[in-house]
Amino acid sequence: MLLLATGAAYANSGAPYPKKVIVKHFRIQMSLLQPPKYDIPYTGDLEIMFYTYKENIKELCGISDYACAKIWPDHKKCIVRILTKDVLEKRGYAYNFALRHELAHCNGWKHPNTLGNKHFSLGEKWDEAEGGVWIEADRKMAAPKLPESTKILPAYSPYKIVCITPKWEEESCAKRQEDVLAYSRPSISTMPHITKDPCIDYTKEECQR
Ligand SMILES: [Zn+2]
Repeated sequence: MLLLATGAAYANSGAPYPKKVIVKHFRIQMSLLQPPKYDIPYTGDLEIMFYTYKENIKELCGISDYACAKIWPDHKKCIVRILTKDVLEKRGYAYNFALRHELAHCNGWKHPNTLGNKHFSLGEKWDEAEGGVWIEADRKMAAPKLPESTKILPAYSPYKIVCITPKWEEESCAKRQEDVLAYSRPSISTMPHITKDPCIDYTKEECQR
């Protein structure tokens, strides 16, 4: 689960010989860096579902409206729900960082779901998060290595119906409809030949036995 915190950062005006020191204060978005122990390739059964709307993430993840990971107790399966790269970046989050954070959860990392009343500074460690450190949320890092069997479901408009194969490959819903019709509506030539039993009502003379 991605939690954001804000921390203060300071910078001077940058002038080499300022007549007076001008200090700018600004708030930065921080996120929790996954401890190295968990920042390793996940090797279980992984599904990654992308979303365009934070409302969808909030609905599915509960607290976070950025991302979360659902982990099976034996860690053999993990579902990551996450905003798309574009949306994450617009909201100040580096995509690879966010994904690696979630994959660390797939590897068993846990941290509290809320900050409570705590305030953190940049670089500070959160003991309750197994030593996770608060860093800039937009920190660039390398892409994580994903299992070859990873199933990825791209983000779609909530108003669009998407058809995917059991292997999670997208296929045309129109084509599927044609296939269904082809199987469910046999052509005349394949219809079983039905003949009426001539003796069904025993009216014919030869049937009256
Ligand atoms: Zn998290």
